[in-house]
Amino acid sequence: MNLNQLREQFPNEATCRKFFENIRWPSGRICPHCGHDKSWVIQAAANRQKRYECSHCTRQFTVTTKTALHATKLPLSTWLLAMYLITSSSKGLASTVLARLIGTTQPTAWKVGHTVRKMMDSSHSDAPLLKGVVELDETYVGGKPPIVPGIQHKRGKGTSKQ
Ligand SMILES: [Zn+2]
Repeated sequence: MNLNQLREQFPNEATCRKFFENIRWPSGRICPHCGHDKSWVIQAAANRQKRYECSHCTRQFTVTTKTALHATKLPLSTWLLAMYLITSSSKGLASTVLARLIGTTQPTAWKVGHTVRKMMDSSHSDAPLLKGVVELDETYVGGKPPIVPGIQHKRGKGTSKQ
């Protein structure tokens, strides 16, 4: 998916929230406090995340309650964009650059980057080990070739590096 497609598919906060909700609750909302499966939408200020109230324990929750994004003040669209940018940049993303791209301060971008990378780290999740056909990106190893006047060393696919 490119950045334009991301914008088209997630044009606003509601589509982002729906996306996160479908991942967290693929077969219906579950109360993160007690595990009950009946809850209702409650009125919340327009600038806050959509909240639910459990019909069993009556406690309130949002899609991020008790996740790595618990009580986040950033819009979910900012998180989604950060996840997109971090997972699609193979060489890592400096927090100064991320800050510019997602429109936060550098310290906030640093925390966002840290949280997203932590979520990607399989030791912090119950993600199963890879199975079946696994494809890896290729890379080339070895230092820069010696500079020889008049010779243009090929880069990327044309290189003679291992
Ligand atoms: Zn509950």
